[in-house]
Amino acid sequence: MRIYVAGPADTLRTVAYKFQIELEQLISINVHISEPDQPIAGLNINLPSPSPSPHPSPVLQPDHSKTFSSPVSKLEWIPLTSLEKMSQTEYDVLIVGTGAGGGAALWRLCQQWGNNGKKIGVVEAGDLLLPTNIMNIQTMNHLGYLDIAYHDPQFAIPIPGTNLRQVIALGGRMLKWSVVSPRMYAAAASPDWPVPEPEMDLYYSIAEQAMGVTDEYTKGSPINQIFLNRLWNSEYAEAMNEPMAVDLEPTKYGEIHSNVFFSSIAFLAQALNRRPYDLAVLARAVRVITEGGRARGLQVMTPDKRSFELKAKNVVLSASTIETPRILYHSGIRGRAIGHYLTNHSNATGRASFQREDYPYVLGAIGIMIPETSERPYQVQIEGPMDYRFYHDTQTPFKEQLEMNITGVGNVESRFENQILFNPNMQNEYGMPEAQVQLTYSDADLAVLGLAEEAVKHVSSILQTPMVSLNLQEALAGDHESGTCRMGRDPDTSGTNPYGQVHGISGLYVADNSVLPFLGAANPTLTTVALAMRTADYIIRSLK
Ligand SMILES: Cc1cc2nc3c(=O)[nH]c(=O)nc-3n(C[C@H](O)[C@H](O)[C@H](O)COP(=O)(O)OP(=O)(O)OC[C@H]3O[C@@H](n4cnc5c(N)ncnc54)[C@H](O)[C@@H]3O)c2cc1C
Repeated sequence: MRIYVAGPADTLRTVAYKFQIELEQLISINVHISEPDQPIAGLNINLPSPSPSPHPSPVLQPDHSKTFSSPVSKLEWIPLTSLEKMSQTEYDVLIVGTGAGGGAALWRLCQQWGNNGKKIGVVEAGDLLLPTNIMNIQTMNHLGYLDIAYHDPQFAIPIPGTNLRQVIALGGRMLKWSVVSPRMYAAAASPDWPVPEPEMDLYYSIAEQAMGVTDEYTKGSPINQIFLNRLWNSEYAEAMNEPMAVDLEPTKYGEIHSNVFFSSIAFLAQALNRRPYDLAVLARAVRVITEGGRARGLQVMTPDKRSFELKAKNVVLSASTIETPRILYHSGIRGRAIGHYLTNHSNATGRASFQREDYPYVLGAIGIMIPETSERPYQVQIEGPMDYRFYHDTQTPFKEQLEMNITGVGNVESRFENQILFNPNMQNEYGMPEAQVQLTYSDADLAVLGLAEEAVKHVSSILQTPMVSLNLQEALAGDHESGTCRMGRDPDTSGTNPYGQVHGISGLYVADNSVLPFLGAANPTLTTVALAMRTADYIIRSLK
């Protein structure tokens, strides 16, 4: 037996990792320490004697528990656990996917539980791709961002037959989302919204705080204020600075605030600072295992098609609007509404221009929102100047003519017939059914899109910025698809109950865009995050 005196940041888990010893073995020879994650600074820790065997013992072999398929040369910026190891644990909660919904559910569980011994696991189909939102990369300009976000094969995997694109990677689509984070008008105004308004308010506040949502990003920018004044002096009294999920804290007292634009990597990091959890990447959930109407775990596959069964008391599916219903379908979990009520936003995207000489001072960025109201079933976003919105160099001379976007975002009704169809006879490489997405605009949707288009033209004239182009978006484009496991009380018209639990299966939850009962005209992610945190709280209560 050897003795190691624990350092200031040590716990039994870090010591096990440091000395490449199995945690269970370390616990068994340190009975004076009750919790593997409790601080142990200054305590004597017993370590097993080095094995006399000429062959290294299994625990001293290369650390398969860290990662099994990433190239060794790659920088690992988050601790990983192998599926082999995860298959030996029974999790209290197992989360599928690390985008907005999965990240938020994990963050809330870790914040609320702290180091209480509950076991949390996360499986992510993609790999480590980027440890931050693309917009935080200082060398990225607007064109580079658009190119990566919409054309790079790693950041924009097309969904066949549509202009929708997935990101299969740690962090999901939050690696490239543009952080606009309004509350949803429907969540307060619609009698059909399944969560009471005071509760929505509470969870919106928690989500806004966690994501740093603020209207300060463009506040004080001269051109933004001029445009706001023009809107306020016409009929748009509700025009406001765009709420954005940005960290505007200065770095002080040794605290580092370097990631301005939020992504769910921040959720994963904050969760990790609170307590450990097991995370496997390149681990695709293909099937939920159920027994007697209860979730029991997951079948997970690696890219080389090795299959693992992970045990869990609760499973949270956060694999996105397309993938979550596919997993449910493949698991034989059917519900009349699952895969149906698909919705997205319609967009009338205008490009407007203005002359630099008309604004002969520091410009600043423009970020203005005209929100949806009972009379206005659309939202208008004014954003730009295109080369100046994110990292910019104030030394670079401005162009003579600058451009910005004026986008009218329209509400698309949630209708049963808009859906994802699964074809069990056509399977992907994991044996899962191919998905065919079917979404058309109703007459009402087209009427709203027409109103949004008129509003864009009207706003452009109020702002005195002539239109350069105006495009209407087809139904199967846009980045806000949602609704395929919508929350509600009636299993005939909803996939989950108002807490995100799949109707009829206890311990099985959904927390991603697919639970949104309808969309209205607001960008969806803040609402998805708020609901995912509420689902996490519900799971915590159910495990007491
Ligand atoms: C360019 C762009 C800009 C955007 N800007 C905004 C904006 O400004 N405001 C806004 O509100 N929204 C915006 N969005 C939309 C926003 O990104 C989505 O609303 C949000 O990311 C959806 O979260 P999600 O959890 O449903 O899915 P995702 O973020 O897509 O996460 C799904 C996760 O599940 C993983 N996964 C998938 N299948 C499996 C499986 N079988 N097993 C394990 N893991 C799996 C994926 O790899 C991913 O990590 C934007 C989107 C794009 C593309």
